[in-house]
Amino acid sequence: MITKKITVIPGDGIGPEVTSSAIRVLDEVASSCGCRFEYQEVPAGGVAIDTCGKALPEETLEAAKASDAVLLGAVGGPKWDGLSGDNRPEAALLGLRKGLGLYANLRLAVLFPQLKDASPLKNELVENGVDIMIVRELTGGIYFGERGLAPSDGTLENGTAKGLEAFDVERYSEAEIDRILKVGFTLAMQRKKNLIVVDKANILETSRLWRKRTAEISKEYPEVSVEFMYVDNASMQLLRRPSSMDVIVTSNMFGDILSDEAGMITGSIGMLPSASLGDPGKPGMYEPVHGSAPDIAGKDMANPLATILSCAMMLRSSLGLPEAADKVEQAVRNVLAAGYRTADIAQGSEEVLGTKAMTEKVLKELRKL
Ligand code: NAD
Repeated sequence: MITKKITVIPGDGIGPEVTSSAIRVLDEVASSCGCRFEYQEVPAGGVAIDTCGKALPEETLEAAKASDAVLLGAVGGPKWDGLSGDNRPEAALLGLRKGLGLYANLRLAVLFPQLKDASPLKNELVENGVDIMIVRELTGGIYFGERGLAPSDGTLENGTAKGLEAFDVERYSEAEIDRILKVGFTLAMQRKKNLIVVDKANILETSRLWRKRTAEISKEYPEVSVEFMYVDNASMQLLRRPSSMDVIVTSNMFGDILSDEAGMITGSIGMLPSASLGDPGKPGMYEPVHGSAPDIAGKDMANPLATILSCAMMLRSSLGLPEAADKVEQAVRNVLAAGYRTADIAQGSEEVLGTKAMTEKVLKELRKL
């Protein structure tokens, strides 16, 4: 029997509720695919500040590094809002990304046809559903480039003194581009084999290097059709023809913006899973896109589906169990098709289920598959 080690970081707010739902789903699917999951629960975020004095205790990072995958709920909350930068719960996320070498952020924006009324887009644009995987480079580019702020002694054409001048440098090496492109191509191979590389190659030198490397790397993936799209056009096409998009790969800043836009199309933050990956064979980190939702924490109101769908990504990308991933996704689809809803995705007079009841519905569907 295959045994996989999963580090569980429940975190704060609704984090413990949604991760415990996800573990029940993982256990259910494990029993049907002849494997076993060993969980080690460790603190991070606000709860770790309270119990260990820091957002990311060393033991937590060590446990994460020694596992096959990490499942994270969410961190943060009003209790810790007054703390400064490095001492805040969110510092745990940056520490985990850095410590695990997670350079690829995968956000899956799926609009299930049953939830199309929750989308802000017109029904005719989303009636075939939306299923877009956005791959964002996470550790390079302008967010990590050289930056500065200094007085400038220059003037504008009309003689006005420039005053202070700030700069942020976008810099990408071929090695950084290649490894994120490979993540994009690999995902395209697992999906519909369509890859869109989003850039601003009409202006940026970095984008032109991305295009050059794409032409080279694409030779290793002859089945994948590649389209280049300027970021301004991509932001329009996401709203015009989201159903025709499959995998998008892009730089840190463009991915940051486009993944929020794509997420919005799906209507509910409670449905959006994500993964952060490093080199193949190293543990990836899987978490819902939403935060700790302090307003509903402890009330059995959180939608557990984003975390459950994050586990499907984990099964596929880190645990080598694609059939188990398919089962989890199918169980979620079946639950939605049967009309079960948590408060965040319910419309009109639909019956509303709590976190636990929704989890039970997913488990019941899984047992039938
Ligand atoms: P949030 O995502 O926690 O909540 C935004 C709104 O969405 C709230 O009304 C909340 O009730 C609702 N919501 C979120 N998840 C839901 C779910 N699963 N089911 C139903 N409704 C859900 O964002 P926020 O309010 O801006 O942030 C709250 C805290 O979470 C802050 O401390 C923030 O820093 C932190 N945060 C953490 C992460 C993370 O851990 N990755 C991400 C974002 C925000």
